[in-house]
Amino acid sequence: LGRHKDDQRQSGFTYNGVEFNQQNLNVFAGLCAVDVPEHVEMMMKAVEEHGEVCTRMGAYKPRTNPYSFQGHGKGCLPWVFEKAGKHGIKVIAMEITHESHIEEIDTCLEKLGRPTGVMLQVGTRNTQNFELLKAIGRQSTYPVLLKRGFGITLNESLNAAEYLASEGNSNVIFCLRGMKTEAGNPHRNMVDFAHVPAVKRLTRMPVCVDPSHSVGTRDASPDGILDVEHATAQGVIAGANMVLVDFHPKPEKALVDGPQALLMHELPAYLEDIRLCHETW
Ligand code: PEP
Repeated sequence: LGRHKDDQRQSGFTYNGVEFNQQNLNVFAGLCAVDVPEHVEMMMKAVEEHGEVCTRMGAYKPRTNPYSFQGHGKGCLPWVFEKAGKHGIKVIAMEITHESHIEEIDTCLEKLGRPTGVMLQVGTRNTQNFELLKAIGRQSTYPVLLKRGFGITLNESLNAAEYLASEGNSNVIFCLRGMKTEAGNPHRNMVDFAHVPAVKRLTRMPVCVDPSHSVGTRDASPDGILDVEHATAQGVIAGANMVLVDFHPKPEKALVDGPQALLMHELPAYLEDIRLCHETW
């Protein structure tokens, strides 16, 4: 996946009719964690109404605390996939934390006649889970959204992408999601979106930004613009090709990361801002 001197090969790929490359932009607004059918329905309906065909839906959640909600797992897949088909969703970004989840997703999609597509997400905590990377790399059915490791070097994270490619799957999008730091950071993580052009220069991968997990709050500047919105604009103006962002119809009821979620009525303006930023870029 590395870009070598004189390397003219095109970046990107098409999956389930959606094009991913270093030029265009895809927005994956959705639920950090699937909770109840009503919220999934509201989210997908809103995404469809605003002309988008991708979303994020977390079924398998890697949690720091073992007593926190761990996600509904394979139990929710049938109704999540059915709803996606109903609302014309073509790609769902869904984190997996174990290789057995690939088969669970595949079996369920096959059984339903593949109403939607799935992009397998590797979370920041698994960027150096080499056996998981190899297993995901060995399958070529699903593209991969690989998160940067939050406490390792950029080069180490890029090597994780090479693990996927060396096993046979080069349909990889690299996602910046902030770095851990305690240096007086008002955000959950240090926003690292200035690295978008660096990753595009160093590799052929489309680059995603995740402003929700980078910022981690709904704090706003004095003009009322949310820090998540500022960070999104920074990422897109820097050339990001995908935005992964948390929304929730009732953030106070969300089972994971409610405090960073944007509200449903904020979706249209958010999408419009992204479009304007992308045009500027
Ligand atoms: C997520 O996107 O749901 C998530 C847990 O992200 P990260 O791996 O970046 O923490």
